[in-house]
Amino acid sequence: MDPKSIPQISLNNGQKIPQFGLGVYQISSDEECEKACLEAIKQGYRHIDTAHIYGNEKGVGSAIKKSKIPRNEFFITTKLWINDFGEGKSIKEIDNMLKRLDTDYIDLLLLHWPKNDYVGAYKDMEKAYEKGIVKSIGLSNFHDDSLKKILNICKVKPAINQIELHPYAQRKDVREDCKKENIKIEAWYPIGHGNKDLIDNPLFSKLAKKYNKTNAQIILRWHIQEGFIIFPKSTNPIHIKENIEIFDFNLSDEEMEEIRKLDKKKMYVNW
Ligand code: NAD
Repeated sequence: MDPKSIPQISLNNGQKIPQFGLGVYQISSDEECEKACLEAIKQGYRHIDTAHIYGNEKGVGSAIKKSKIPRNEFFITTKLWINDFGEGKSIKEIDNMLKRLDTDYIDLLLLHWPKNDYVGAYKDMEKAYEKGIVKSIGLSNFHDDSLKKILNICKVKPAINQIELHPYAQRKDVREDCKKENIKIEAWYPIGHGNKDLIDNPLFSKLAKKYNKTNAQIILRWHIQEGFIIFPKSTNPIHIKENIEIFDFNLSDEEMEEIRKLDKKKMYVNW
């Protein structure tokens, strides 16, 4: 896949993000992570979503170096973990992230969960943004009061909110709140963390047959047409290739609507 065929989404600060990438959650060794990233890069991926708590930022950084592709052709997201939240404390952790990622800037930095001193951590992210070592800042798993709190105190508006979102949990309330503020949505667990009950839904099987795609590709295409930013995770080269091959067909308006009707507010992670 030519990386240029992947749509770019404009953020509220003018930065652009590829709408599709690789997630590296639960790839616990740097070696395995590097291998998955290199396989994905070979298939045209240029966007990688990691986090301090995943323990594999070094693997992401080494894959980018080994690919020999210029750094500015990649979009790297990482997330501050809750133990590192606090004004004056988070900024030190951002320096550590740069070292682990072996880079001089992070494209997108998120607060992983609305816990502990997330206001202090957000202020440190704003400082890193002003210094230019972080190009965009945002949130993950924020909603209602935590989202309002950040919107009340921020000098730099969050560009992104990364939340659990798939056809069984379409998160309309958070999406509306974010839309009003021009905060773009990233969908984690885009295929429900591989959940069979979701992937094997007969509607996806019917559409997969029609378009000669797999059920997972139908779900991923639905996300793309909804405008969500996604980074399905896989270490399996067959799935890595399959997941990016979703830019050569279109679901109709009626089919999009049929998938919207599957929403049952079923989140796989409760918090
Ligand atoms: P996912 O929905 O991407 O599912 C991944 C799992 O589905 C894989 O482990 C694999 O078993 C299976 N799979 C992958 N491709 C497949 C295919 N084509 N066909 C069938 N099965 C396939 O779930 P995820 O990895 O947990 O989430 C994606 C990314 O979102 C993560 O890697 C991470 O970057 C991010 N994430 C963020 C948070 C957060 O709190 N911010 C939480 C969870 C995940």
